[in-house]
Amino acid sequence: MSKPYTEVIGDPIAHSKSPLIHGFWLEALGIEGAYRRAHVKPENLESFIADRRADPDWRGCNVTIPHKLAVMDLVDDPGDIRGTIGAMNTIVRQKDGSLIGTNTDAAGFYAPLAELDLEGAAVAVVGAGGAARAVLFALARAGVGHVTILNRSPLKAMGLLATFGLKGDVVALDTALPPVSLLVNSSSLGMAGQPPLDFDLSPLPEDAIVYDLVYAPLQTALLKAAEARGLDTVDGLDMLIGQAALAFELFFGRSPPEGRDDDLRALLTA
Ligand code: NAP
Repeated sequence: MSKPYTEVIGDPIAHSKSPLIHGFWLEALGIEGAYRRAHVKPENLESFIADRRADPDWRGCNVTIPHKLAVMDLVDDPGDIRGTIGAMNTIVRQKDGSLIGTNTDAAGFYAPLAELDLEGAAVAVVGAGGAARAVLFALARAGVGHVTILNRSPLKAMGLLATFGLKGDVVALDTALPPVSLLVNSSSLGMAGQPPLDFDLSPLPEDAIVYDLVYAPLQTALLKAAEARGLDTVDGLDMLIGQAALAFELFFGRSPPEGRDDDLRALLTA
């Protein structure tokens, strides 16, 4: 008997942690299904999606670099993704073979902050790439106040403020931090092989939260500095697991098992 499957597609793809996360949940819930990884080069993307669309066992896929833009043209219903986050990370196959596309990064980012009241709060965001788009989309929805974007390329960051209808300013990466309630690193700085983010965190108030999207390494220099100052922190695995949880529900119609996040985090950091 055939069994349902999903996968993550990208080029390269070997580094993806998605098969570990979804595989852990499938096993924990005893679901007869699989989550694979598929190395898909850009020139093969269109035919790959066409083949998969014809396979009734395929529930859909997660999408990673460099396909997050191109897949928007290959699904039947991209929702409002193009005019908002501008990148798609999840495709879901309907029973009739039609494909719906969405992005679970923004909700995955926001999940650890959901209990906070960010209405009118001043925030700072480092970076203006794909992850920053999901972050700014979520923060705009949460009704934040003044947004300071710190980025190497100022024009790109200014465009994002306008895209998401946010009030704020764009400053260079070596500018002193403003006294914000939430500082988010959505840049590649701090990732293994990249320079660390070296901020003086003293302007932040005592109840500020520092959120780093980087998950390799998990304990970045930024988070270490925040902890040394006694600030609350959120690391990149929270978002990684959060965005995967939403995709899992769309693929398999079940929520991930409750109370297993510590085991999953141990697996992902082993
Ligand atoms: P991206 O689209 O390539 O954007 C990278 C950003 O980092 C850009 O703003 C870029 O600045 C900046 N940057 C890169 N190298 C830099 C350098 N040497 N000096 C100064 N700025 C630099 O990448 P992305 O997809 O947004 O991903 C960014 C980070 O978020 C990565 O670490 C990724 O792993 C992480 N992420 C985590 C999750 C999660 O679930 N936890 C999800 C998505 C992404 P310019 O604008 O000037 O080019």
